Amino acid sequence: MAVVGGGPAGSTLAALVAKQGHRVVVLEKENFPRYQIGESLLPSTIHGVCRLSGAADDLAKAGFPLKRGGTFRWGARPEPWTFAFSVSPRMAGPTSVAYQVERSKFDDILLKNARKQGADVREGCSVRGVIEEGERVRGLTYADADGNEREIRARYVVDASGNKSRLHNKVGGTREYSDFFRSLALFGYFENGKRMPEPNRFNILCVAFESGWFWYIPLSDTLTSVGAVVRREMAEKIQGDPEKALRALIDECPMIADYLSDATRVTEGQYGEIRVRKDYSYHHTTFTRPGMMLVGDAACFVDPVFSSGVHLATYSSLLAARSLNSVLEGKVDEDAAMKEFESRYRREYGVFYEFLVSFYEMHRDENSYFWQAKKVTANSEPELQSFVELIGGVSSGEQGLMNTEALSERLADNSEEFATAVEKFAANEDGSSVPLFSSSVVRNAMQEAGQVQMRALLGEDAEPETPMFPGGLVSSPDGLYWLPATTA
Ligand code: FAD
Repeated sequence: MAVVGGGPAGSTLAALVAKQGHRVVVLEKENFPRYQIGESLLPSTIHGVCRLSGAADDLAKAGFPLKRGGTFRWGARPEPWTFAFSVSPRMAGPTSVAYQVERSKFDDILLKNARKQGADVREGCSVRGVIEEGERVRGLTYADADGNEREIRARYVVDASGNKSRLHNKVGGTREYSDFFRSLALFGYFENGKRMPEPNRFNILCVAFESGWFWYIPLSDTLTSVGAVVRREMAEKIQGDPEKALRALIDECPMIADYLSDATRVTEGQYGEIRVRKDYSYHHTTFTRPGMMLVGDAACFVDPVFSSGVHLATYSSLLAARSLNSVLEGKVDEDAAMKEFESRYRREYGVFYEFLVSFYEMHRDENSYFWQAKKVTANSEPELQSFVELIGGVSSGEQGLMNTEALSERLADNSEEFATAVEKFAANEDGSSVPLFSSSVVRNAMQEAGQVQMRALLGEDAEPETPMFPGGLVSSPDGLYWLPATTA
Protein backbone atom coordinates (compact mmCIF):
# COMPACT_ATOMS: atom_id res chain seq x y z
CA MET A 1 0.00 0.00 0.00
CA ALA A 2 1.23 3.55 -0.71
CA VAL A 3 0.23 6.50 1.49
CA VAL A 4 0.59 10.12 0.38
CA GLY A 5 1.40 12.41 3.32
CA GLY A 6 2.83 11.71 6.75
CA GLY A 7 0.54 13.96 8.83
CA PRO A 8 -1.67 12.44 11.54
CA ALA A 9 -3.93 10.75 8.96
CA GLY A 10 -1.14 9.20 6.88
CA SER A 11 1.11 8.13 9.75
CA THR A 12 -1.77 6.60 11.71
CA LEU A 13 -3.00 4.64 8.73
CA ALA A 14 0.51 3.46 7.89
CA ALA A 15 1.09 2.26 11.46
CA LEU A 16 -2.25 0.43 11.68
CA VAL A 17 -1.68 -1.45 8.41
CA ALA A 18 2.07 -2.05 8.75
CA LYS A 19 1.69 -3.55 12.23
CA GLN A 20 -0.45 -6.28 10.64
CA GLY A 21 2.55 -7.23 8.52
CA HIS A 22 1.54 -5.56 5.24
CA ARG A 23 4.03 -3.64 3.14
CA VAL A 24 3.40 0.10 3.47
CA VAL A 25 5.29 2.99 1.87
CA VAL A 26 4.64 6.56 3.04
CA LEU A 27 5.69 9.42 0.73
CA GLU A 28 5.95 12.74 2.58
CA LYS A 29 7.09 15.84 0.75
CA GLU A 30 8.53 17.65 3.78
CA ASN A 31 11.31 16.64 6.13
CA PHE A 32 9.96 16.25 9.65
CA PRO A 33 9.66 17.91 12.08
CA ARG A 34 7.61 20.47 10.12
CA TYR A 35 5.13 23.16 11.21
CA GLN A 36 1.37 22.51 11.15
CA ILE A 37 -1.69 24.17 12.72
CA GLY A 38 -4.26 22.15 14.73
CA GLU A 39 -2.85 21.94 18.25
CA SER A 40 -5.78 21.13 20.49
CA LEU A 41 -6.69 17.44 20.57
CA LEU A 42 -9.56 15.24 21.79
CA PRO A 43 -9.25 12.33 24.26
CA SER A 44 -10.46 9.65 21.83
CA THR A 45 -7.51 10.42 19.51
CA ILE A 46 -4.94 9.98 22.24
CA HIS A 47 -6.43 7.12 24.21
CA GLY A 48 -8.38 5.43 21.43
CA VAL A 49 -6.80 5.55 17.99
CA CYS A 50 -3.23 6.28 19.11
CA ARG A 51 -3.38 3.38 21.59
CA LEU A 52 -4.36 1.06 18.71
CA SER A 53 -1.66 2.46 16.42
CA GLY A 54 1.04 2.01 19.07
CA ALA A 55 1.83 5.72 19.48
CA ALA A 56 0.11 6.39 22.82
CA ASP A 57 3.07 5.59 25.09
CA ASP A 58 5.51 7.74 23.12
CA LEU A 59 2.99 10.58 23.22
CA ALA A 60 2.60 10.18 26.97
CA LYS A 61 6.39 10.41 27.38
CA ALA A 62 6.57 13.66 25.38
CA GLY A 63 5.14 15.68 28.27
CA PHE A 64 2.47 17.61 26.35
CA PRO A 65 0.25 19.82 28.56
CA LEU A 66 -2.88 18.03 29.71
CA LYS A 67 -6.10 19.54 28.37
CA ARG A 68 -8.97 18.81 30.73
CA GLY A 69 -11.62 20.47 28.59
CA GLY A 70 -12.62 23.79 27.09
CA THR A 71 -13.43 27.23 28.45
CA PHE A 72 -15.77 29.34 26.33
CA ARG A 73 -16.85 32.96 26.33
CA TRP A 74 -19.56 32.54 23.78
CA GLY A 75 -23.17 33.59 23.25
CA ALA A 76 -25.18 36.33 24.89
CA ARG A 77 -23.88 35.85 28.44
CA PRO A 78 -20.72 37.76 29.35
CA GLU A 79 -19.12 35.25 31.75
CA PRO A 80 -16.99 32.35 30.50
CA TRP A 81 -18.08 28.77 31.21
CA THR A 82 -16.03 25.61 31.30
CA PHE A 83 -16.63 22.11 30.01
CA ALA A 84 -14.50 19.31 31.43
CA PHE A 85 -14.03 15.94 29.73
CA SER A 86 -14.57 14.53 33.17
CA VAL A 87 -16.63 16.49 35.69
CA SER A 88 -16.53 13.70 38.25
CA PRO A 89 -13.58 13.56 40.70
CA ARG A 90 -14.18 9.81 41.05
CA MET A 91 -13.78 9.25 37.35
CA ALA A 92 -10.92 11.65 36.72
CA GLY A 93 -8.74 8.90 35.29
CA PRO A 94 -5.88 9.44 32.88
CA THR A 95 -8.03 9.03 29.79
CA SER A 96 -10.39 11.89 30.60
CA VAL A 97 -7.78 14.33 29.32
CA ALA A 98 -6.34 15.18 25.92
CA TYR A 99 -3.17 17.06 24.98
CA GLN A 100 -2.36 20.51 23.65
CA VAL A 101 0.45 19.80 21.22
CA GLU A 102 3.11 21.52 19.23
CA ARG A 103 2.23 19.82 15.97
CA SER A 104 5.82 19.65 14.77
CA LYS A 105 6.54 17.39 17.78
CA PHE A 106 3.25 15.48 17.76
CA ASP A 107 3.34 14.69 14.02
CA ASP A 108 6.99 13.65 14.29
CA ILE A 109 6.15 11.15 17.05
CA LEU A 110 3.34 9.69 14.95
CA LEU A 111 5.55 9.41 11.85
CA LYS A 112 8.34 7.75 13.85
CA ASN A 113 5.74 5.36 15.22
CA ALA A 114 4.70 4.45 11.67
CA ARG A 115 8.35 3.51 11.02
CA LYS A 116 8.49 1.58 14.27
CA GLN A 117 5.42 -0.42 13.23
CA GLY A 118 7.20 -1.40 10.00
CA ALA A 119 6.22 1.27 7.43
CA ASP A 120 8.82 2.46 4.90
CA VAL A 121 8.62 6.24 5.40
CA ARG A 122 10.31 8.35 2.72
CA GLU A 123 10.59 12.05 3.54
CA GLY A 124 11.34 14.72 0.96
CA CYS A 125 9.24 12.82 -1.62
CA SER A 126 6.55 14.83 -3.39
CA VAL A 127 3.77 12.90 -5.10
CA ARG A 128 2.87 14.18 -8.57
CA GLY A 129 0.02 11.95 -9.69
CA VAL A 130 -1.55 8.49 -9.77
CA ILE A 131 -0.96 5.57 -12.13
CA GLU A 132 -4.29 4.42 -13.57
CA GLU A 133 -5.32 1.28 -15.38
CA GLY A 134 -8.89 1.75 -16.53
CA GLU A 135 -11.03 2.56 -13.53
CA ARG A 136 -8.43 1.38 -11.06
CA VAL A 137 -5.56 3.27 -9.44
CA ARG A 138 -2.41 1.11 -9.42
CA GLY A 139 0.26 3.37 -8.00
CA LEU A 140 1.85 6.81 -7.79
CA THR A 141 4.37 8.99 -9.55
CA TYR A 142 6.61 11.12 -7.36
CA ALA A 143 9.82 13.12 -7.16
CA ASP A 144 12.25 11.62 -4.67
CA ALA A 145 14.45 13.54 -2.24
CA ASP A 146 17.08 14.06 -4.98
CA GLY A 147 14.50 15.34 -7.47
CA ASN A 148 14.42 12.14 -9.54
CA GLU A 149 11.03 11.25 -11.06
CA ARG A 150 9.90 7.84 -9.79
CA GLU A 151 6.98 5.44 -9.81
CA ILE A 152 5.64 3.16 -7.17
CA ARG A 153 3.09 0.37 -7.76
CA ALA A 154 0.66 -0.52 -4.99
CA ARG A 155 -2.57 -2.48 -4.51
CA TYR A 156 -4.00 0.56 -2.75
CA VAL A 157 -3.14 4.24 -2.75
CA VAL A 158 -4.37 6.38 0.13
CA ASP A 159 -4.38 10.15 -0.19
CA ALA A 160 -3.63 11.65 3.22
CA SER A 161 -2.01 14.77 1.78
CA GLY A 162 -4.10 17.33 3.66
CA ASN A 163 -6.11 20.25 2.37
CA LYS A 164 -3.61 21.98 0.11
CA SER A 165 -2.70 19.17 -2.27
CA ARG A 166 -4.88 18.55 -5.34
CA LEU A 167 -4.40 14.78 -5.50
CA HIS A 168 -7.89 14.21 -4.10
CA ASN A 169 -9.30 15.09 -7.54
CA LYS A 170 -7.95 11.76 -8.81
CA VAL A 171 -10.55 9.90 -6.82
CA GLY A 172 -13.28 11.41 -9.05
CA GLY A 173 -16.13 13.60 -7.81
CA THR A 174 -15.58 17.12 -6.53
CA ARG A 175 -14.74 19.01 -3.34
CA GLU A 176 -17.92 20.70 -2.13
CA TYR A 177 -17.55 23.76 0.10
CA SER A 178 -20.03 24.54 2.85
CA ASP A 179 -21.99 27.77 2.44
CA PHE A 180 -22.30 27.97 6.21
CA PHE A 181 -18.65 27.73 7.36
CA ARG A 182 -16.50 30.08 5.33
CA SER A 183 -14.06 31.78 7.65
CA LEU A 184 -10.47 32.96 7.52
CA ALA A 185 -7.97 32.46 10.32
CA LEU A 186 -5.08 34.76 11.26
CA PHE A 187 -2.75 33.37 13.91
CA GLY A 188 0.55 33.73 15.72
CA TYR A 189 2.37 32.71 18.92
CA PHE A 190 3.02 34.55 22.16
CA GLU A 191 5.33 34.12 25.15
CA ASN A 192 4.11 34.78 28.71
CA GLY A 193 0.39 35.09 28.08
CA LYS A 194 -1.85 34.60 31.12
CA ARG A 195 -3.09 31.21 32.21
CA MET A 196 -6.45 30.23 33.60
CA PRO A 197 -6.42 29.02 37.20
CA GLU A 198 -6.00 25.29 37.90
CA PRO A 199 -7.38 22.82 36.97
CA ASN A 200 -8.18 24.65 33.71
CA ARG A 201 -4.71 26.04 33.16
CA PHE A 202 -4.24 24.11 29.92
CA ASN A 203 -7.82 24.19 28.64
CA ILE A 204 -8.47 25.56 25.21
CA LEU A 205 -10.05 29.01 25.59
CA CYS A 206 -12.46 30.12 22.86
CA VAL A 207 -13.76 33.68 22.95
CA ALA A 208 -16.41 35.02 20.58
CA PHE A 209 -16.23 38.68 19.61
CA GLU A 210 -17.80 41.00 17.06
CA SER A 211 -15.81 39.80 14.00
CA GLY A 212 -15.63 36.09 14.84
CA TRP A 213 -13.86 34.17 17.61
CA PHE A 214 -10.39 33.66 19.08
CA TRP A 215 -8.63 30.46 20.08
CA TYR A 216 -6.10 30.67 22.92
CA ILE A 217 -4.22 27.39 23.27
CA PRO A 218 -1.52 27.03 25.95
CA LEU A 219 1.26 24.91 24.45
CA SER A 220 3.60 25.08 27.45
CA ASP A 221 3.89 27.10 30.67
CA THR A 222 4.84 30.13 28.59
CA LEU A 223 4.03 29.54 24.89
CA THR A 224 0.49 30.20 23.57
CA SER A 225 -1.06 29.72 20.14
CA VAL A 226 -3.48 32.59 19.45
CA GLY A 227 -5.71 32.78 16.40
CA ALA A 228 -8.62 34.88 15.21
CA VAL A 229 -11.23 33.14 13.06
CA VAL A 230 -12.97 35.87 11.12
CA ARG A 231 -16.19 35.57 9.15
CA ARG A 232 -15.90 35.91 5.39
CA GLU A 233 -17.74 39.27 5.42
CA MET A 234 -14.98 40.60 7.68
CA ALA A 235 -12.15 39.42 5.40
CA GLU A 236 -10.80 42.95 4.94
CA LYS A 237 -9.84 42.92 8.63
CA ILE A 238 -7.07 40.45 7.95
CA GLN A 239 -5.73 42.13 4.86
CA GLY A 240 -2.66 44.35 4.84
CA ASP A 241 0.10 44.11 7.44
CA PRO A 242 -0.58 40.85 9.37
CA GLU A 243 1.05 42.16 12.56
CA LYS A 244 -1.24 45.20 12.64
CA ALA A 245 -4.27 43.15 11.63
CA LEU A 246 -3.74 40.65 14.47
CA ARG A 247 -3.12 43.44 16.97
CA ALA A 248 -6.33 45.23 15.89
CA LEU A 249 -8.37 42.03 16.27
CA ILE A 250 -6.87 41.38 19.71
CA ASP A 251 -7.81 44.93 20.73
CA GLU A 252 -11.40 44.23 19.62
CA CYS A 253 -11.62 41.31 22.07
CA PRO A 254 -11.13 42.49 25.70
CA MET A 255 -10.66 39.03 27.24
CA ILE A 256 -7.87 38.03 24.82
CA ALA A 257 -6.32 41.51 25.09
CA ASP A 258 -6.21 41.05 28.86
CA TYR A 259 -4.69 37.55 28.62
CA LEU A 260 -1.99 38.94 26.32
CA SER A 261 -1.41 42.20 28.21
CA ASP A 262 2.07 41.13 29.43
CA ALA A 263 2.86 38.84 26.52
CA THR A 264 5.38 39.21 23.70
CA ARG A 265 4.78 37.88 20.21
CA VAL A 266 7.28 35.25 19.08
CA THR A 267 9.15 36.57 16.04
CA GLU A 268 11.70 33.82 15.36
CA GLY A 269 11.78 30.15 14.42
CA GLN A 270 8.76 28.07 13.40
CA TYR A 271 6.44 30.31 15.45
CA GLY A 272 7.85 33.62 14.26
CA GLU A 273 5.44 34.13 11.37
CA ILE A 274 1.86 35.40 11.50
CA ARG A 275 -0.04 33.04 9.23
CA VAL A 276 -3.35 33.22 7.38
CA ARG A 277 -5.44 30.14 6.57
CA LYS A 278 -8.73 29.79 4.81
CA ASP A 279 -10.65 27.44 7.03
CA TYR A 280 -13.63 26.83 4.76
CA SER A 281 -15.39 23.57 5.55
CA TYR A 282 -15.68 21.05 2.71
CA HIS A 283 -16.19 17.42 1.86
CA HIS A 284 -15.34 15.45 -1.24
CA THR A 285 -18.36 13.93 -2.97
CA THR A 286 -16.74 10.47 -2.96
CA PHE A 287 -14.02 9.14 -0.63
CA THR A 288 -13.12 6.06 -2.68
CA ARG A 289 -12.42 4.78 -6.16
CA PRO A 290 -11.16 1.29 -7.01
CA GLY A 291 -7.58 1.22 -5.66
CA MET A 292 -7.77 4.65 -3.97
CA MET A 293 -9.11 6.20 -0.75
CA LEU A 294 -9.12 9.68 0.83
CA VAL A 295 -8.53 10.21 4.56
CA GLY A 296 -8.12 13.26 6.81
CA ASP A 297 -8.20 16.77 5.38
CA ALA A 298 -7.84 15.34 1.86
CA ALA A 299 -11.40 14.03 2.26
CA CYS A 300 -13.14 16.63 4.40
CA PHE A 301 -12.71 19.39 6.97
CA VAL A 302 -15.07 21.11 9.36
CA ASP A 303 -14.71 24.38 11.31
CA PRO A 304 -12.03 24.02 14.02
CA VAL A 305 -13.89 25.35 17.09
CA PHE A 306 -14.36 21.89 18.60
CA SER A 307 -10.85 20.62 17.73
CA SER A 308 -12.21 17.90 15.46
CA GLY A 309 -9.55 18.02 12.69
CA VAL A 310 -6.98 15.60 14.09
CA HIS A 311 -9.77 13.44 15.48
CA LEU A 312 -11.37 13.10 12.03
CA ALA A 313 -7.93 12.54 10.46
CA THR A 314 -6.93 9.72 12.82
CA TYR A 315 -10.41 8.21 13.13
CA SER A 316 -10.83 8.07 9.33
CA SER A 317 -7.46 6.34 9.18
CA LEU A 318 -8.61 3.75 11.68
CA LEU A 319 -11.69 3.10 9.52
CA ALA A 320 -9.55 2.92 6.36
CA ALA A 321 -7.02 0.62 8.04
CA ARG A 322 -9.78 -1.80 9.03
CA SER A 323 -10.96 -1.88 5.42
CA LEU A 324 -7.47 -2.40 3.99
CA ASN A 325 -6.38 -5.00 6.57
CA SER A 326 -9.59 -6.95 5.94
CA VAL A 327 -9.37 -6.87 2.15
CA LEU A 328 -5.62 -7.61 2.04
CA GLU A 329 -6.23 -10.71 4.18
CA GLY A 330 -9.36 -11.80 2.32
CA LYS A 331 -11.65 -11.37 5.33
CA VAL A 332 -14.28 -9.28 3.51
CA ASP A 333 -14.77 -8.22 -0.09
CA GLU A 334 -13.55 -4.87 -1.32
CA ASP A 335 -16.94 -3.31 -2.05
CA ALA A 336 -18.29 -4.06 1.43
CA ALA A 337 -15.09 -2.83 3.10
CA MET A 338 -15.03 0.44 1.14
CA LYS A 339 -18.73 1.04 1.76
CA GLU A 340 -18.26 0.54 5.51
CA PHE A 341 -15.32 2.97 5.54
CA GLU A 342 -17.15 5.66 3.62
CA SER A 343 -20.47 5.34 5.46
CA ARG A 344 -18.90 5.54 8.91
CA TYR A 345 -16.57 8.36 7.94
CA ARG A 346 -19.40 10.43 6.42
CA ARG A 347 -21.50 9.85 9.48
CA GLU A 348 -18.76 11.05 11.83
CA TYR A 349 -18.15 14.11 9.69
CA GLY A 350 -21.90 14.75 9.59
CA VAL A 351 -22.07 14.60 13.38
CA PHE A 352 -19.49 17.33 13.82
CA TYR A 353 -21.04 19.39 11.06
CA GLU A 354 -24.46 19.18 12.69
CA PHE A 355 -22.99 19.86 16.13
CA LEU A 356 -21.18 22.94 14.86
CA VAL A 357 -24.15 24.38 13.01
CA SER A 358 -26.01 24.20 16.35
CA PHE A 359 -23.09 25.85 18.07
CA TYR A 360 -23.12 28.81 15.73
CA GLU A 361 -26.91 29.10 15.87
CA MET A 362 -26.55 29.31 19.60
CA HIS A 363 -24.12 32.12 19.16
CA ARG A 364 -26.98 34.13 17.68
CA ASP A 365 -29.76 32.98 19.98
CA GLU A 366 -29.48 32.79 23.74
CA ASN A 367 -32.24 30.21 23.96
CA SER A 368 -30.75 27.90 21.40
CA TYR A 369 -28.50 24.85 21.67
CA PHE A 370 -25.41 26.26 23.15
CA TRP A 371 -27.09 28.11 25.94
CA GLN A 372 -28.85 24.89 26.85
CA ALA A 373 -25.54 23.05 26.92
CA LYS A 374 -23.98 25.80 29.06
CA LYS A 375 -26.80 25.49 31.54
CA VAL A 376 -26.30 21.76 31.88
CA THR A 377 -22.53 21.86 32.19
CA ALA A 378 -22.37 24.82 34.56
CA ASN A 379 -24.78 23.21 37.02
CA SER A 380 -23.02 19.85 37.21
CA GLU A 381 -26.39 18.11 37.24
CA PRO A 382 -26.51 14.55 38.49
CA GLU A 383 -27.51 13.61 34.94
CA LEU A 384 -24.37 15.24 33.61
CA GLN A 385 -22.23 13.51 36.19
CA SER A 386 -23.85 10.27 35.31
CA PHE A 387 -23.13 10.82 31.64
CA VAL A 388 -19.55 11.85 32.19
CA GLU A 389 -18.83 9.09 34.66
CA LEU A 390 -20.09 6.68 32.09
CA ILE A 391 -17.85 8.17 29.42
CA GLY A 392 -15.01 7.99 31.94
CA GLY A 393 -15.90 4.36 32.66
CA VAL A 394 -15.68 3.53 29.01
CA SER A 395 -12.55 5.45 28.40
CA SER A 396 -10.71 5.68 31.68
CA GLY A 397 -7.42 3.91 32.21
CA GLU A 398 -7.45 4.29 35.99
CA GLN A 399 -5.93 1.40 37.92
CA GLY A 400 -9.14 -0.01 39.31
CA LEU A 401 -10.56 -0.46 35.89
CA MET A 402 -7.57 -2.38 34.64
CA ASN A 403 -8.66 -5.19 36.97
CA THR A 404 -10.27 -7.66 34.58
CA GLU A 405 -13.00 -8.80 36.96
CA ALA A 406 -14.14 -5.26 37.70
CA LEU A 407 -13.91 -4.56 34.01
CA SER A 408 -16.14 -7.46 32.95
CA GLU A 409 -18.70 -6.45 35.55
CA ARG A 410 -18.80 -2.93 34.17
CA LEU A 411 -19.03 -4.20 30.63
CA ALA A 412 -21.89 -6.55 31.33
CA ASP A 413 -24.32 -3.66 31.60
CA ASN A 414 -22.34 -1.00 29.80
CA SER A 415 -24.53 -0.56 26.73
CA GLU A 416 -27.75 -0.16 28.67
CA GLU A 417 -26.12 2.13 31.23
CA PHE A 418 -24.66 4.25 28.49
CA ALA A 419 -27.94 4.59 26.63
CA THR A 420 -29.73 5.60 29.84
CA ALA A 421 -27.15 8.20 30.69
CA VAL A 422 -27.27 9.72 27.23
CA GLU A 423 -31.07 9.88 27.43
CA LYS A 424 -30.81 11.66 30.77
CA PHE A 425 -28.23 14.07 29.46
CA ALA A 426 -30.57 14.91 26.59
CA ALA A 427 -33.14 16.33 29.03
CA ASN A 428 -33.24 19.52 31.07
CA GLU A 429 -34.25 19.73 34.71
CA ASP A 430 -37.84 20.43 33.68
CA GLY A 431 -37.88 17.37 31.43
CA SER A 432 -37.75 19.33 28.16
CA SER A 433 -35.19 18.09 25.71
CA VAL A 434 -31.81 19.67 24.93
CA PRO A 435 -31.88 19.63 21.13
CA LEU A 436 -28.11 19.38 20.77
CA PHE A 437 -27.88 16.13 22.67
CA SER A 438 -31.21 14.67 21.68
CA SER A 439 -30.13 14.58 18.06
CA SER A 440 -29.78 10.88 17.28
CA VAL A 441 -26.75 11.45 15.12
CA VAL A 442 -24.89 13.21 17.97
CA ARG A 443 -25.85 10.51 20.46
CA ASN A 444 -24.72 7.75 18.13
CA ALA A 445 -21.39 9.47 17.63
CA MET A 446 -20.83 9.77 21.37
CA GLN A 447 -21.47 6.06 21.69
CA GLU A 448 -19.11 5.30 18.81
CA ALA A 449 -16.31 7.45 20.30
CA GLY A 450 -16.77 5.56 23.57
CA GLN A 451 -16.55 2.25 21.74
CA VAL A 452 -13.26 3.15 20.03
CA GLN A 453 -11.66 4.02 23.37
CA MET A 454 -13.10 0.96 25.04
CA ARG A 455 -11.80 -1.33 22.31
CA ALA A 456 -8.36 0.22 22.52
CA LEU A 457 -8.26 -0.53 26.23
CA LEU A 458 -9.95 -3.88 26.33
CA GLY A 459 -9.05 -5.53 23.05
CA GLU A 460 -10.38 -9.10 23.13
CA ASP A 461 -12.40 -8.37 26.27
CA ALA A 462 -14.60 -5.78 24.55
CA GLU A 463 -18.25 -6.58 23.94
CA PRO A 464 -19.26 -7.64 20.42
CA GLU A 465 -20.61 -4.77 18.32
CA THR A 466 -23.80 -4.56 16.32
CA PRO A 467 -23.50 -3.21 12.75
CA MET A 468 -23.91 0.54 12.46
CA PHE A 469 -25.80 0.21 9.18
CA PRO A 470 -28.25 -2.50 8.07
CA GLY A 471 -26.26 -5.35 6.52
CA GLY A 472 -23.01 -3.61 7.48
CA LEU A 473 -19.82 -4.88 9.06
CA VAL A 474 -18.56 -4.75 12.63
CA SER A 475 -15.05 -4.19 13.94
CA SER A 476 -13.02 -7.17 15.15
CA PRO A 477 -12.30 -7.53 18.89
CA ASP A 478 -8.80 -6.06 18.40
CA GLY A 479 -10.30 -3.09 16.49
CA LEU A 480 -8.08 -3.56 13.41
CA TYR A 481 -10.42 -5.34 10.94
CA TRP A 482 -14.00 -5.48 9.74
CA LEU A 483 -15.89 -8.72 10.08
CA PRO A 484 -19.33 -9.81 8.94
CA ALA A 485 -21.67 -9.26 11.91
CA THR A 486 -22.39 -12.95 12.49
CA THR A 487 -18.75 -14.05 12.94
CA ALA A 488 -17.61 -11.18 15.19
P1 FAD B 1 -1.94 17.35 7.32
O1 FAD B 1 -1.70 17.54 8.75
O2 FAD B 1 -2.09 18.57 6.48
O3 FAD B 1 -0.80 16.43 6.73
C1 FAD B 1 -0.70 16.23 5.32
C2 FAD B 1 0.74 15.90 4.97
O4 FAD B 1 0.80 15.61 3.58
C3 FAD B 1 1.70 17.08 5.22
O5 FAD B 1 2.76 16.67 6.04
C4 FAD B 1 2.16 17.48 3.81
O6 FAD B 1 3.50 17.91 3.79
C5 FAD B 1 1.99 16.18 3.05
N1 FAD B 1 1.78 16.38 1.60
C6 FAD B 1 1.00 17.30 1.00
N2 FAD B 1 1.07 17.16 -0.33
C7 FAD B 1 1.93 16.13 -0.58
C8 FAD B 1 2.41 15.52 -1.76
N3 FAD B 1 2.04 15.94 -2.99
N4 FAD B 1 3.28 14.49 -1.65
C9 FAD B 1 3.68 14.05 -0.44
N5 FAD B 1 3.26 14.60 0.72
C10 FAD B 1 2.38 15.63 0.65
N6 FAD B 1 -7.45 20.34 14.32
C11 FAD B 1 -7.48 19.93 15.61
O7 FAD B 1 -7.59 18.72 15.87
N7 FAD B 1 -7.39 20.84 16.63
C12 FAD B 1 -7.29 22.17 16.40
O8 FAD B 1 -7.18 22.95 17.35
C13 FAD B 1 -7.30 22.63 15.05
N8 FAD B 1 -7.19 23.95 14.75
C14 FAD B 1 -7.20 24.35 13.44
C15 FAD B 1 -7.17 25.71 13.14
C16 FAD B 1 -7.22 26.14 11.81
C17 FAD B 1 -7.21 27.59 11.47
C18 FAD B 1 -7.28 25.18 10.77
C19 FAD B 1 -7.33 25.61 9.33
C20 FAD B 1 -7.28 23.82 11.07
C21 FAD B 1 -7.26 23.40 12.39
N9 FAD B 1 -7.31 22.04 12.72
C22 FAD B 1 -7.37 21.65 14.02
C23 FAD B 1 -7.36 21.01 11.67
C24 FAD B 1 -6.02 20.28 11.48
O9 FAD B 1 -5.02 21.21 11.13
C25 FAD B 1 -6.16 19.23 10.37
O10 FAD B 1 -7.44 18.67 10.38
C26 FAD B 1 -5.12 18.10 10.46
O11 FAD B 1 -3.82 18.60 10.40
C27 FAD B 1 -5.37 17.09 9.32
O12 FAD B 1 -4.38 16.10 9.31
P2 FAD B 1 -3.99 15.37 7.93
O13 FAD B 1 -3.02 14.31 8.28
O14 FAD B 1 -5.22 15.02 7.17
O15 FAD B 1 -3.30 16.53 7.06
